[in-house]
Amino acid sequence: MRLILFGPPGAGKGTQANKISENYVAAHISTGDMLRAAVKNGSELGTLAKSYMDKGELVPDDVIIGIIKDRIQEDDAKKGFMLDGFPRTIAQAEALDAMLEEENESIDTVFSIEVRDEEIIQRILERAKIEGREDDTEDVVKNRLSVYRNQTEPLKEFYKSEGVLSEVDGMGTIDEVFERIQEVLNKVEQ
Ligand code: ADP
Repeated sequence: MRLILFGPPGAGKGTQANKISENYVAAHISTGDMLRAAVKNGSELGTLAKSYMDKGELVPDDVIIGIIKDRIQEDDAKKGFMLDGFPRTIAQAEALDAMLEEENESIDTVFSIEVRDEEIIQRILERAKIEGREDDTEDVVKNRLSVYRNQTEPLKEFYKSEGVLSEVDGMGTIDEVFERIQEVLNKVEQ
């Protein structure tokens, strides 16, 4: 299966993506994790990415599209993948469609995890105390959220018109949310 998971920062994407990839698909591809690894390595990509991530802005489309293009050609991704944090703009979604079309492939399902703003801010500030992610300060979180609403949320309409959008209520426990996702996946698998 080829799946996409998106939702506001703090919606629990990473957690759900891990559970989905354990149970349904081989490759869990998280652009946020890939970028954080690049920052840690101090590579050229890392230095560039950090300047955007620190402000809660998106890394330029051409950079991120190049990364994904290479990554989905790796062996583990040939069997299926779970994209977490990509696409985040219409341009990224169009580029992904074009990449898949070349291989006669397409996306099976796009999950949009729905969580209200007040809950998001609270969750992230809690997480910040535990994980200490540099982009989890209140100002940067607020900017990530507004970038999400302006640039990423329009993808819902994009995928709705392709007939693959599935909106999932992201409130409740991790297992409750995963159950909602599984209900959809079990239908897709049949
Ligand atoms: P969150 O969803 O909690 O904001 P992520 O780990 O998905 O966190 O992303 C962290 C940061 O990495 C983003 O704020 C952005 O700067 C960068 N990033 C991740 N994925 C993309 C993408 N597809 N396009 C542009 N920037 C990205």
